[in-house]
Order: sequence, then structure tokens, then C-alpha cells
Amino acid sequence: MSNKKIVIIEDEPDILEVLSYNLKREGFEVLSATNGTEGLALVSKEIPDLILLDLMLPGMDGIEICSTIKNAPPTKNTLIIMVTAKGEESDIVLGLGVGADDYITKPFSPKELVARVKAVLRRGVLLDTSEQKEKVEVGALTIDTNKFEVTVSGKNIRLTATEFRLLHYLASHPGRVFSREQLLSRAMGDDVVVVDRNIDVHIRGIRKKMDIEPSMIETIRGVGYRLRDID
Ligand code: CA
Repeated sequence: MSNKKIVIIEDEPDILEVLSYNLKREGFEVLSATNGTEGLALVSKEIPDLILLDLMLPGMDGIEICSTIKNAPPTKNTLIIMVTAKGEESDIVLGLGVGADDYITKPFSPKELVARVKAVLRRGVLLDTSEQKEKVEVGALTIDTNKFEVTVSGKNIRLTATEFRLLHYLASHPGRVFSREQLLSRAMGDDVVVVDRNIDVHIRGIRKKMDIEPSMIETIRGVGYRLRDID
């Protein structure tokens, strides 16, 4: 994990210092900026592996910065964790919509922060290949796209085609939060006709059928859903 480069964009000096200190201690190379303009310049110069991006910044806000970074070819693969405050759920949904990879809500412990950064970096490595995987295993859950088969603790469960796609998508990105809109467009794709566009209904259906492990799919209030990251 060491030698990875992290850029922090945060306007509050105290928070910046805590973030920076804890990440440096883990062996990361840490650079920082206190506003969006400075942050974007730093990011395009350094091309970091990951960015910790505060949402509430003076001038250009976090959503705009995130969108700019994810739309610029040199930095579009840079991972972004949004740093948000409680009550900013609608901004989290916006941020995920413009490509943020994860978010962390203030206040958080240094331990939590470091764990999240490492998890996102680890996932980032898998990201390119995970979507084509024929077999996905997360904890007790196994999904085989060749056989169109899902098992939980070895027990077969029968899903509808929509449920299958949804669960496969979530399980291909364990630990990552998706908004309902993202699940509709990404998990289903444009070529699929979804009879019921209400994601909650499908999730409820999956949970009911996964009667041994229904809590594997977590509801993130005001944001969306994620499949629990087992490790
Ligand atoms: Ca701020």
C-alpha cells in the first residue's frame, strides 16, 4: 500500500492535518490543497492514486471538482473518496452520480479513514476486470453467470433476471455504495427492458430469497445500497 500518492482537498486546517498525519503514518505520499482551483491544478500535475475530497469548499464545490476530475482523460481513473458531513445525503447521491468511488462521513476516526482508503485502493485494482467476471464470490454468496446460478451458503436461490443482474453488479463491487439511479443504469444497461424500475422492490425480493444472509445487502439511508464488504 505504501508509495501510493494521495491528494487531500480540504479547507479546514484541523481536519486537513488529521487526515494528512494519519495517512503519512501509513506510508502514503500525501499532498494537499485548500480549495478547488488549487486542488485541480495539483491533481492534474501529480496524477494521484486517490483523492480525499471535501464536499463543502469555498468557491468550486466538491461535486464540480469530482466531475471535472472524472471527465478529464488523464485523471479519470483516479479514485475519489468524498468527505461529507452528516445530512449531506443528497450531495452524496450527486457525487456518486458524477463518479465518486466512495464517501466517508464526518466525524470519523483515523482508523476508519485509513481502512476506507485502503479498501478503495484495493477495489480500484479490481475495478477493470470485475465486471466481466463469470464467477463472483463474496462471503457466503456465490454467483455464476455462466450457469445463471446463485448460491448462499451452498443453498441455491432462484432470482428473476432483474434481481440476478442487480445482485451480480453489487457483488462485483463489494463495499461500494450505489444510488438507485446508478443501479438502474449500470446494472441493467440500456439494452435491457426493466419491467419494474423501482429498485427497492427488486432489492426486497433478493433479500427475501437470501433468507440466510438478507443483511448482506445494506440500505444506506438517503443514498442507496451496497453489498457488505466481508474482509
Ligand atoms: Ca469544508
